Amino acid sequence: AQIKEVAFVKSSSRAKDCPVDGLPEFAVLGRSNVGKSSLINTLVKKKEVALTSKKPGKTQLINHFLINKSWYIVDLPGYGFAKASESARTDWSAFTKGYFLNRDALVSVLLLVDASVPPQKIDVDCANWLGRNNIPITFVFTKCDKMKGRKGVRPEDNIRSFHELIRQNYKQHPPWIMTSSVTGLGRDQLLLHMSQLRNY
Ligand code: GDP
Repeated sequence: AQIKEVAFVKSSSRAKDCPVDGLPEFAVLGRSNVGKSSLINTLVKKKEVALTSKKPGKTQLINHFLINKSWYIVDLPGYGFAKASESARTDWSAFTKGYFLNRDALVSVLLLVDASVPPQKIDVDCANWLGRNNIPITFVFTKCDKMKGRKGVRPEDNIRSFHELIRQNYKQHPPWIMTSSVTGLGRDQLLLHMSQLRNY
């Protein structure tokens, strides 16, 4: 399940422009600052790989990275920039929704959710939209090393609250994994999970 080779393939501005080789892919998605770059770096163990379009208002691209010549990690634009204009947010959703709804090669979305804070509306909304549209999803909770938040709230408590908020939009509860880019928690579990889904 380990990652031996990573190659950047292309940036696409529309779902239509994405690679057409049909190799299975996992799309990594989350709020800005959720820890996406850190997580991708942890997975591939290479510092130079995570290339994300972080700036609001910048052209938003779907970045395909080919792993071990056989599957893709897809870096999607982050959402929920506090400062983004209404139109930038609308662009994000039209663009990214087009990808989710039209991408046959998509094995699972990896939705990153920060476990060190209580559930955020924008993450809940995103999870609920994916659930209602039957997009396969895995919740990847980040920053689980932060054992206690400011009010003594543990990551487990935030995760439980999050599950409660999204439950009614899923027929079956999606798989979920606790991770930390600081301690490496969940790294091997996530790699194994992705390899099992690819072979399914
Ligand atoms: P991105 O905007 O989603 O790509 O987020 P980054 O990977 O750049 O991380 C945002 C901030 O969260 C940085 O200050 C990271 O050091 C911090 N961070 C990311 N992952 C973790 C984690 O697992 N644990 C802790 N404690 N901090 C993290």
